[in-house]
Amino acid sequence: MSNAWGKAKPLRLLFFAAVVLPCLVLAVLAYRSIEREDVILERRLQETFEAELIHAVSLIQDELGRVREELAASAPAETGTDPRTALAAWKGSSPLVGVPFVLSADFRILWPTRDSFLAQSDLDFVNWNREFVTDRTPTPVYENVALAFKDQIADPKFAAAPEPAPAAGRTRIASEKKTDEAKPSPPAAAVGGSANNIPLTGNREKGAGLERSAGKSKVADVQVAQQALAEFEQSDEVRKRVYDEAARQGKKTESRTVSPGATSSKDAAILRPESVYISDLLRFSQITAGNEAGLVPRFIAEKLTLLFWKREASGRIVGCLVEDGTVRGRLLARLPAVYSPVRILTVLDENGRPLVIPESEGGRDWRRPLAAREVSELLPRWEAAAYPTDPGALAVRAKTTRLLMAGILLGLCLLIAAAGFVILNTLRSEMVLARQKTTFVTNVSHELKTPLTSIRMFSEMLKEGRQPDVAKQRSYLGLMLAETERLTRLINNVLDFSKMEKGKRAYAKSRLEIGPRIGEIVAKEKVRMEHDGFEVAFADFSEGAFVLADEEALGQAVLNLLSNAEKYSPGQKRLEVEVSRAGGNVRIAVRDRGIGIPPSAAGKIFKEFYRVDQSLSAPVSGSGLGLTIARRIVRDQGGDIEFQPREDGGSVFTICLPEARDAS
Ligand code: ADP
Repeated sequence: MSNAWGKAKPLRLLFFAAVVLPCLVLAVLAYRSIEREDVILERRLQETFEAELIHAVSLIQDELGRVREELAASAPAETGTDPRTALAAWKGSSPLVGVPFVLSADFRILWPTRDSFLAQSDLDFVNWNREFVTDRTPTPVYENVALAFKDQIADPKFAAAPEPAPAAGRTRIASEKKTDEAKPSPPAAAVGGSANNIPLTGNREKGAGLERSAGKSKVADVQVAQQALAEFEQSDEVRKRVYDEAARQGKKTESRTVSPGATSSKDAAILRPESVYISDLLRFSQITAGNEAGLVPRFIAEKLTLLFWKREASGRIVGCLVEDGTVRGRLLARLPAVYSPVRILTVLDENGRPLVIPESEGGRDWRRPLAAREVSELLPRWEAAAYPTDPGALAVRAKTTRLLMAGILLGLCLLIAAAGFVILNTLRSEMVLARQKTTFVTNVSHELKTPLTSIRMFSEMLKEGRQPDVAKQRSYLGLMLAETERLTRLINNVLDFSKMEKGKRAYAKSRLEIGPRIGEIVAKEKVRMEHDGFEVAFADFSEGAFVLADEEALGQAVLNLLSNAEKYSPGQKRLEVEVSRAGGNVRIAVRDRGIGIPPSAAGKIFKEFYRVDQSLSAPVSGSGLGLTIARRIVRDQGGDIEFQPREDGGSVFTICLPEARDAS
């Protein structure tokens, strides 16, 4: 067998190249994709969250729009010389109004006056906002960067354009370059407020809004804005260019308060990404120029406040510090439910704290949501954020899927390997068989030739009368007869084998008294064998035992065993045949003291064409069919043949047949 494998080296190579290698490559590829399962799962979840956040943000922006509209509608049209009553009425009418104030057209504080400091809140308001509302210091005003540069984004050359050389005046603030052509108009959010990502120009139509949309219809303007937002979101390249351009124009960009991203991905943004809102430092006069009303976000001691202002007919400005608690409450009321089975959705304020901290969620890292979206230019640093309810569950699900897939993968690989192995083994056996058949043809030709040569030699001698001795003549005739029988046996074996292969051999079974039958066969062979120097012993301990078998076929099986014992006993020529009964069976044992059979070959000797010495130059010729046929015959009679080595050398082949019950 190992010999056969050795010769089948190309087969092994084939097995490796066609089965093992592709299997390994497939396994590695599949495993790598399985390994990313948690990332894929998280990514899918993230996409779902993002869709929900877009909706949540639009609700918040919508609500901010309403807040602005409500404040504008409720604010007194004219506060008059003593604004106290009008402001008190305003404050009384709307819970949104925190600290009301009135400014003169030239930005002097008319209210709260020094002597009107009734409450600490009034004092605080003046302390924190005096410099700004009196137009002495600017405040950062935020704008969506994509909208600020929407016209550039709409330009097809923008994304592909080579990076602009950094300008020298990066640090100049926008308010100082009013005449600069590249400077966009004041951010829409601050001046008019916006309910959506796309600023509503409602309050700007009479003023600055006109200059911006000169020559363009409002619809076209909105379309450009929408396209800019979409492109900004989708393309890294566009984003990069827009931020570069913003920096070049001296706009301030900030980092977001959160680092959204998958926790499983190793490269999850540790650094906070850049905010989509850029800021410009603008004075109050710049913000109010050409506008009717608006909201201005102001960071005061790291706390975000909203200032509302509205121009009176007289040119004065009435406004208020918007009541923080009321705004928060209204925004929360508009948000979808905080909890769903899969996620927690909340809004984080400027300090990264959720507006409401759900109980039992205290330990969560709020700054690492799976998905987050900035809320509005009116609420810079605020984020709508979503977190998986149970981050561990995702990992467990990914692990289960991974294990399942790995199991299937392993199973498939094993199956392919096993199938490949079986196919290859079959191929190998076929090759061995093909080689054995070639040997068989050569052996059979040789076996046919040997007896034919001696028959021819003796018949020629007899014909030419070269041997006058009658006794010798008789012995020649006897030898010729024996050779003819050998030929017949060989030819019968070959023919029987092909018949058996096709399953066509028919048996004529009859009750045989086994002892005497075997005795006859042995007696017939004994003469010739003794002539060849054999010592043949026969013993029958089976008196009265019968078997149901085909007499001729059984005789052929016994003769094949005798012939083997004779062929493979070159030295000690001693042969014993013994018939006995045991446990309802009849046993016919043929023992010799020949060359024996090595243990490694013992399992194969009954296989067709198998010969212990497979070489063509084997000292004993044979077809490799004798034992195959003998076993087939015996099995067809309901029995079996077994081989056993003898202790002091030689072999024992035992035919075992079930004893036939009494015919009566
Ligand atoms: P063959 O025509 O080669 O004898 P068989 O099927 O009869 O074919 O036997 C198969 C092989 O088993 C033989 O080639 C031989 O090597 C071995 N064998 C069978 N009988 C004996 C025996 N009595 N002693 C030693 N070897 C044997």
